[in-house]
Amino acid sequence: MDRLHARYPFFESARTAVENAGIDLLDVVENETAVVRRSKARIKSGLSEGHIGDPRRNRVELLSYPVARVLISLIDDPMATDTYARAEAATARQRFEADIGTKDTGRSIQRPQLTISRLLDEFNLSHQITQNRDGSFQMDVSTYLQLSRNLEDQKWRLVERAVTAGEVPVTEEELLMLLEEAVVNRVTEGLPLQVPDSIADTLAEEKEELSELLAGHEFSLSYETIDEPAFPPCMTALLRQIRSGDSVELPGQFAVVAFLAGMEMDKDEVYEFIDQEISKEEIAYQLAHLRDKRGGEYAPPSCTTMVEYDLCVNKDELCKEINHPIEYYERKIDQ
Ligand code: SF4
Repeated sequence: MDRLHARYPFFESARTAVENAGIDLLDVVENETAVVRRSKARIKSGLSEGHIGDPRRNRVELLSYPVARVLISLIDDPMATDTYARAEAATARQRFEADIGTKDTGRSIQRPQLTISRLLDEFNLSHQITQNRDGSFQMDVSTYLQLSRNLEDQKWRLVERAVTAGEVPVTEEELLMLLEEAVVNRVTEGLPLQVPDSIADTLAEEKEELSELLAGHEFSLSYETIDEPAFPPCMTALLRQIRSGDSVELPGQFAVVAFLAGMEMDKDEVYEFIDQEISKEEIAYQLAHLRDKRGGEYAPPSCTTMVEYDLCVNKDELCKEINHPIEYYERKIDQ
């Protein structure tokens, strides 16, 4: 199986590859446990972490995407679908940057070849976007409006742009952010699917598990003041790292933003609180994974997840009694 398809299973060519291979979805969910496990992990990680987790081997990666679409359809919750799609898209953007080579990932492993023009073809945008000599791009204004409509930052407003002859200038970084929105649209296209009973029955256990996770993830907390000395050791360590300017990987940033958002902080408050070492745009982006349009919220990562990502550090006595960083904070405040 093609590595590019495994990394971007929402590509048309990936779908065609699956069709041409004559793969039967019922056969996959009944017999390929690694694929079903990875599908569940895609959604689980998407709902709680904002990205789809570590990749597996190519076949599992590629096939787990259509199975994840089936699973999210069975859950049939618009908030979950949107959050999952945004996690797929966020991961895709990171991969675009790595595979096109716009960001130094610090890794030397071989990347599949990807170009901006290949991406524009993929989303049928080749005629709407042209590249300037300096490497920046011009985007047709209606395409720009369509792709930027869910981006909150002021800089995306049309009045902030030097529109000329019906075209909006965007940098390469901005173009990839707009393509991330195109990925969200691609992933959500056609969802929820009509799932045959035979497949729904086979995936009943996985669906149940994810529905339970979802039910446990909706909550909202509110505190009059934030008492930072009562923060759990993991969050204290992450905040110290961020404030001192050390680089913190995406899961760590997500954990802090999610923790602070769990205390009803909005984008600006989180920005002020962490002393502005993570950009407002990055914070807004991560909050978008946490909050749905109806105001529901997903919980910040639990202790188990923090351990999985090596983010559980400096555990103390209270840590032995709790399962969640928020629970730690509540217990500390009560004390
Ligand atoms: S046990 Fe939980 S609260 Fe304590 S440091 Fe680890 S992740 Fe944080």
